[in-house]
Amino acid sequence: MRTLSILLLSFLVIACNTNQKEETTPEIPKQQEFAIIIHGGAGTILKKNMTDSLERAYKAALTEAIQTGYKILEDGGSSLEAVQRTINVMENSPLFNSAKGAVFNHEGKNELDASIMDGATLNAGAIAGVTTIKNPINLAYEVMVNSDHVLLSGEGAETFAKERGVELVDPSYFFTQNRYDALQRILEREKQDSVSASSAFIDPFIKDEKFGTVGCVALDKNGNLAAGTSTGGMTNKRYNRIGDSPIIGSGTYASNATCGVSSTGWGEYFIRGQVAYDISAQMEYAGKSLTEATHNVIQEKLTKMGGTGGIVALDHYGNPSMEFNTEGMYRAYMNDQGELILGIYGENED
Ligand code: ASP
Repeated sequence: MRTLSILLLSFLVIACNTNQKEETTPEIPKQQEFAIIIHGGAGTILKKNMTDSLERAYKAALTEAIQTGYKILEDGGSSLEAVQRTINVMENSPLFNSAKGAVFNHEGKNELDASIMDGATLNAGAIAGVTTIKNPINLAYEVMVNSDHVLLSGEGAETFAKERGVELVDPSYFFTQNRYDALQRILEREKQDSVSASSAFIDPFIKDEKFGTVGCVALDKNGNLAAGTSTGGMTNKRYNRIGDSPIIGSGTYASNATCGVSSTGWGEYFIRGQVAYDISAQMEYAGKSLTEATHNVIQEKLTKMGGTGGIVALDHYGNPSMEFNTEGMYRAYMNDQGELILGIYGENED
């Protein structure tokens, strides 16, 4: 009897301890040594409208871009450098709405916006409405590290670029036929439907034209997060309109305490919703995981406002989130094992 009691007691003690352990030990996400995530824009991207060769071209461009940053991180380079160089690859590709391949504004010009943020220091740099900068993300970086400012625009930004020796090009460098044709289609419909000029660049026309901004978030081996975004904005934009991409907290945000985020979509809504910062704030103040925060901000708050688009993000463990409420979003993620996740369309289509 005595032996039985001791046995029963020991069993109870062990059972209690096991339960206690389960209750008090929170699940710790796997820490990636480094990681990188990118997007090439969100919008009406449907498999039925895509040719095999174009799909291959997008996949190749996304792969080349992300591997560029991955290599930098693997070799011990900084997340800021990885973000910049990865974005440069997409800026130089005519496939994306950023630098070469940027959309046209109402006057038939390409006006470029970009921003970058350092999650270690919360330092940031951005530029808006430039027309001669080959790689706008490089100028945003210069603003961050070599000026007292965060956001420069137009001619002033270009004067600063000259002073810093940032590469300039003739505006004709940004011309691509398909983006030009997209503008002509919108202008034509504008004429036919006699829509008021000031509202013409937004709904309903813009919904037909894909977005295509590019963005990147990286976590380096020192545990530092960085995020960046580069865009031509929205087709047929007027009055020197500036979107969310160069707005810190809307298009781009990074903090080592929480996450890094790059946005793409209908910029006006991303500014009003402070989308990138809201994700970080929900993690910081409400203790949400990255997945919970991005789901809430994109699928609930942004959607409720009527905004469309998506984000890519990494938390400080290197876990990814690719959340969008559009039909598709060009996107890719690589972890420290070199595993690549690549997607274009929405659920069940990839
Ligand atoms: N967010 C960008 C803007 O509104 C557009 C895009 O993401 O393609 O300027």
